[in-house]
Amino acid sequence: MADAIAVLNAGSSSIKFSVFAQAGTDLALAVRGQIESIYTAPRFTAKSATGETISTHAWDQGTRLGHDGALEHIVAFLRDQAEGLSLKGVGHRVVHGGMAYSQPVRVDRKVLQDLEQFIPLAPLHQPHNLTPIRIMLEDRPELPQVACFDTAFHRAQPEVAQMFALPRELHDAGVRRYGFHGLSYEYVASVLPQLDPAAAKGRTVVLHLGNGASMCALSAGCSTASTMGFTAVDGLPMGTRCGALDPGVILYLMDQRGMDARAIEKLIYNESGLLGVSGVSSDMRTLLDSAEPRARLAVDLYVYRIGRELGSLAAALGGLDALVFTGGIGENSAEIRERVCRAAAWLGVVPDGQANRAGEPRISMPASKTAAWVVATNEELMIARHTRRVLG
Ligand code: ADP
Repeated sequence: MADAIAVLNAGSSSIKFSVFAQAGTDLALAVRGQIESIYTAPRFTAKSATGETISTHAWDQGTRLGHDGALEHIVAFLRDQAEGLSLKGVGHRVVHGGMAYSQPVRVDRKVLQDLEQFIPLAPLHQPHNLTPIRIMLEDRPELPQVACFDTAFHRAQPEVAQMFALPRELHDAGVRRYGFHGLSYEYVASVLPQLDPAAAKGRTVVLHLGNGASMCALSAGCSTASTMGFTAVDGLPMGTRCGALDPGVILYLMDQRGMDARAIEKLIYNESGLLGVSGVSSDMRTLLDSAEPRARLAVDLYVYRIGRELGSLAAALGGLDALVFTGGIGENSAEIRERVCRAAAWLGVVPDGQANRAGEPRISMPASKTAAWVVATNEELMIARHTRRVLG
């Protein structure tokens, strides 16, 4: 029997899962899948390690399966699949660990209570991340669970990088720049030594460009600055999030438009970014295929903002040795990579158009002073590795 670790990533309307089995000294993917639309029209899919669909199920429109029903289906599926595997524990993606949790942690009732206190800091993610943990603590108390945080990797940042210029009392109360996508950055940092040993020891900016998007400055593999701050709405424009915004805009909306916190939350998290600017879609593929001038403008703004943040992170690093693209857009869109590399010419990036279009790992010319790379992120593997380590 091979030891195995299950990984769960629960959102508001979906639960993604994967199982990793011991393979030599590392872990290898055995199976992965998800249940989507768990409160409206649930659909289950599971795929083998090589990507073949091995199981599907769809519930009737209007079925409210919920997190508990979805989890039950996943557990039953995994029990059927478990032949030859001995499940040692479950690792969970949890967006916020606050200041207290700068490392993955085994969850008990006390830890769960602590993590619930961070719900106001990540209202759209944290409650859903915690739901399966709560259910499993009740139903399967014998199964060890480990929480892995998107914020933890950034706790290594210098103090100034984690501060707002607000009165000290607010900083002490936890109003700080936390940074997110840490599991993705940690994974990229873990593979960088094989790709580019010099950059791994030097100064790298990683661009995680997905529906959520952020950038992180790595110095010798450690996070030194990032574009996301107190919440995951800061920094770059994203699919539907606005990114960095003059706080005066919020005051204006409250005073002049009579908007309350919930209305502003909806605006800046769900109605802005690529969707808000284009009026067409939050999906980069749709925008790149669109002839609509506002779709082009949304993409122009996206690339422009990345270029400016790149300058800021390169300044925080005191120079730049490499750029790494990851996330759905970073891994798949040659056009966005090409445009970002062109905006980074002043930092010594000379893109190799052919390698970029071919989707090669190295997309900069051999003579490029600053290298550019594409790395497929693997947050799930990172969570499985952490879980195995925490559980010894
Ligand atoms: P999430 O943050 O939800 O995990 P992903 O990392 O999967 O999101 O990224 C989703 C984004 O990636 C979408 O905007 C999608 O359009 C974009 N994307 C995926 N494939 C391509 C592609 N071939 N070209 C351009 N964008 C792409």
